[in-house]
Amino acid sequence: MHNNKQMTFSAPFSGAVLTMARIPDPVFASGAMGDGLAIDPLDDVLHAPFAGVVINVARTLHAINLRADNGSEWLLHVGIDTVELNGEGFDALVKDGQRVTEGQPLLRFDLDKVARNCRSLVSALILLNGDRYELSPVRESGSVNVGEPLMQVIALAPDDESAQSTDVRAKQARGSIRVAHNGGLHARPAALVRQTARQFASHAELHFSGASASTDSVTGLMGLGVAEQDEVEVVCLGHDSEVALQALLKALSTPAHDEKPQAPVAAAPKASSKADRENGILHGVTASPGLASGPLFRLDTLELGEDLGGHRPDEQRQILSEALVEVRADISTSLDHDQHEQSAIFATHLAMLEDPALLDAAFDAIDQGQAATHAWSHAVLAQCANLEKLGNALLAERANDLRDLRQRVLLTLLGEARTLEIPAGAIVAARELTPSDLLRLAQCGVGGICMAEGGATSHVAILARGKGMPCLVALGSTLLDIAHEYAHESAHQEVVLDADNARLEIRPDAPRLKEIHSLRAQRFEQRQRQQQHAHLPALTQDGVSIVVAANVASRADAENAQLNGADGVGLLRTEFLFVDRSTAPTEDEQLAAYQSVLDAMPDKPVIIRTIDIGGDKQLEYLPLPAEANPVLGLRGIRLGQARPELLDQQLRALLRVKPLARCRILLPMITEVSELLAVRERIDELAREAGIGERPELGVMIEVPSAALLAEQLAEHADFLSIGTNDLSQYTLAMDRDHAGLAARVDALHPALLRLIAMTCSAAASKGRWVGVCGALACDPLATAVLIGLGVRELSVSPPQVAEIKALVRELDTRQCQALAQHVVSLGSAADVRAASSTFQTQVLTRRASA
Ligand code: PEP
Ligand code: MG
Repeated sequence: MHNNKQMTFSAPFSGAVLTMARIPDPVFASGAMGDGLAIDPLDDVLHAPFAGVVINVARTLHAINLRADNGSEWLLHVGIDTVELNGEGFDALVKDGQRVTEGQPLLRFDLDKVARNCRSLVSALILLNGDRYELSPVRESGSVNVGEPLMQVIALAPDDESAQSTDVRAKQARGSIRVAHNGGLHARPAALVRQTARQFASHAELHFSGASASTDSVTGLMGLGVAEQDEVEVVCLGHDSEVALQALLKALSTPAHDEKPQAPVAAAPKASSKADRENGILHGVTASPGLASGPLFRLDTLELGEDLGGHRPDEQRQILSEALVEVRADISTSLDHDQHEQSAIFATHLAMLEDPALLDAAFDAIDQGQAATHAWSHAVLAQCANLEKLGNALLAERANDLRDLRQRVLLTLLGEARTLEIPAGAIVAARELTPSDLLRLAQCGVGGICMAEGGATSHVAILARGKGMPCLVALGSTLLDIAHEYAHESAHQEVVLDADNARLEIRPDAPRLKEIHSLRAQRFEQRQRQQQHAHLPALTQDGVSIVVAANVASRADAENAQLNGADGVGLLRTEFLFVDRSTAPTEDEQLAAYQSVLDAMPDKPVIIRTIDIGGDKQLEYLPLPAEANPVLGLRGIRLGQARPELLDQQLRALLRVKPLARCRILLPMITEVSELLAVRERIDELAREAGIGERPELGVMIEVPSAALLAEQLAEHADFLSIGTNDLSQYTLAMDRDHAGLAARVDALHPALLRLIAMTCSAAASKGRWVGVCGALACDPLATAVLIGLGVRELSVSPPQVAEIKALVRELDTRQCQALAQHVVSLGSAADVRAASSTFQTQVLTRRASA
């Protein structure tokens, strides 16, 4: 046991002493990693600055983590950008878990090589768990010799973890993994990592590129600047380190199911210039499509006056603490009520609000005499600046989430509920809106949003798309000037927000406004017309019935599908019914969920797919082992084979729904006939055990090329085939369906896919089975004629699209569709198919209109 409260940190090198701020690297210099000092070394050996235990030697040998006997943990990082040497020129003289004495050599390195090949030799000596220790430098400049005192480290609280330090090796676990989250470790994934780590007693850290961050700190994690597919190292210390490590590796390597593939970052969004302004048009980047017109209204953000001082720190601490409690409670309430996508955003806000780095900065500023308002505001803005200077667009966007928190807490502190008096239908202009601003605006019935800054991948953009609200970002500061000028004009100047074409027309004339009004009216009327016939069957011109069903993920979706005229449910993704739980649903809970979807669709068939997790979809309560390539790993039906008790439980629940004749079971990720036969057999056994005579129809997903190639054999034993074009594209084109840079090329209208679909349809027809499409291609109006021509007879689309697709089906003639299909399978690219299909559609619709 050690109770050393105070410890001397002696110089691990001889050399010049520098403060952190002088380290030629913004991440170290900003203190984002922690407090400490740096040395510009003169010798080639790093010595132990105290007696302790080696937590971890970096894989690339350029840095070491040490734990002192008083519990303080340190990163000793040799040089800047030395990770890039990949271990060359470095020799580790100690191993992980090894006990070391003060002055013991830890690393030897080739001073010349590092000096020649890296940015700098300046080496950072950083306290990683600074919240529990106070540092007082013995010197901050001049030079030191190895072993001379450099800093005093004083423990602020009893170090109850010190008992663990005697046998770190037994309690330490570490592993490396590639980060799979779209856009890297930005706020949401960082919050998820923090949440995961909190379930365990172990202390966990992420190491990346010579830097490390505690999993406690969302901003610290974001500050690592980890991009998608970067490899990070996770180190866990504590009695449950092994399980904590596995959980963290999984959290890092599994993108959340609701992460949208990110639109390729628009190449330098064109900020509007004076010339644009003179043209009357500002150009931006589309965050959410649509067309709107209305008065331009500028929304200002909260500014604080000067801090007049004279505050009592204890009083201000109390005021800030109470405001934080209030805001946390508000956010938790939103979390309880909001839909999934919004919950994820607010959960991130909650995690940011508990970030020790942020809170420490604010409370420290109060201790130095600032008012709670100003201390909070400065602490947040400093964090924003840190994120923005990392040069990562996604992290810079997350600074907006922090600004949102700044605003929320300030409003609470000031006791001022900012009421918005915005004309209905207004186009709101702001520098950058926060997610809660957007939700408030949506309630005010605004027509659209435009921002001077912001990015298309921000949370605000996600929310705007979810609300169907046209939104442009990155319009440049001219936007704000114009909005300001317009605010002083007596009559409200109307603008046109054409988010489909990423432009804001700032001085539309009367004829243009008239044109926009009539375009919007036309779109509205067309939708109304389509909606009137949505509940009727969709028959082609030559009388062929095409079932237009809906893809759903909940009872609410199913009710919406019913309202929109869906002919049934073409795909219920059961994995999404239970995403928000931390424990597995029981058989009865599953039955209730499935039954509620059937009940929401009276008399209509409902296709329920057995659980398809793995790959891009994960469930909290069902941790899967980390896989090098999860998309090619244990997913879909393979998981059912690996965990038969799970599949059995689901099948039992499915066999109990009533009426069973309306329930069709669909199996995901089938690659060969034996998988189907095994499930059919199991359904028989379970039905017999339960005394059920009836059997539900059983279909298979055709979503990997082997299934399409084997469609004839599968159709012999399946009652129907359902094509999952999302995965079929990914596996046929060898392009990750979530890959930001390939998003535009993962096009299911690729002729190779169409050939697989053609093959599937003719094989199924030879066995008298029907084929549906439940992948996203079914929602694409340009694909409707092609799919019908290839022989598809059910299209399962998102509920709001049922009316539109049914209307389109009614314009088509299957013989013409067949000719089109025959033609497009012989083309060479998806782009060619799109062009041919577009020409076909224009011809058909024009002919129909003139008939
Ligand atoms: C598909 O792959 O097309 C499909 C419908 O399944 P999911 O998108 O759920 O993987
Ligand atoms: Mg799929």
